[in-house]
Amino acid sequence: MIGPPTLRRAACARCLRPQANCLCALVRATSHRTEVLVLQHPQEQRQAKNSVALLRLSLAHCEVVVGERFAPAALQALLQRPGRDTRLLYPDVPAAPAPPAPRATAGVPVRLVVLDATWRKSLRMLLEHPALAALPRLSLDAPAPTLYRAIRAARQTDQVSTLEATVQALAMLEAPAFDAAPLLDAFGRFVAGVAARQRPPVASGLA
Ligand SMILES: [Zn+2]
Repeated sequence: MIGPPTLRRAACARCLRPQANCLCALVRATSHRTEVLVLQHPQEQRQAKNSVALLRLSLAHCEVVVGERFAPAALQALLQRPGRDTRLLYPDVPAAPAPPAPRATAGVPVRLVVLDATWRKSLRMLLEHPALAALPRLSLDAPAPTLYRAIRAARQTDQVSTLEATVQALAMLEAPAFDAAPLLDAFGRFVAGVAARQRPPVASGLA
């Protein structure tokens, strides 16, 4: 006799998270013309606090590929699309200087590549993949204050979540047509939900 299937925590078929942490009620469909490709470090995929699932479900054109190392041919196939200018959302930093800026091609839609990893791991991904390092960069002018601090206090204070950085980049690329407000509002409620599930810190005089 065949027994019942092994019991697992029931997962939501759409967002693939445990039912108790389902994101779907938060999703606000957001229209935009930029293609977004997120290269997600495997450690981030397993993070309940990660913002990319909400981003992927909300954006009309967002692809998420999980990996730490990519074969050159496979990476090229992900990065380039006909009729699109590919840009890497990454600052011009001494450890990984940006290549010379290309001539502006006004009106050409962008394929925006976003690295979803801690700062240290995203830098390593960049340095280990010449095709990523060679991409023209898109740098955020001045990162907006993050809503994330409540749940990821260990991150650098000026480091915003992947969702916030991507939304800010889309606003830069597509202003004034792009409306960031519904997605940022949804992210605020996501952060509040995660914070509420975390055990409140024990009141103590110790640091
Ligand atoms: Zn769901």
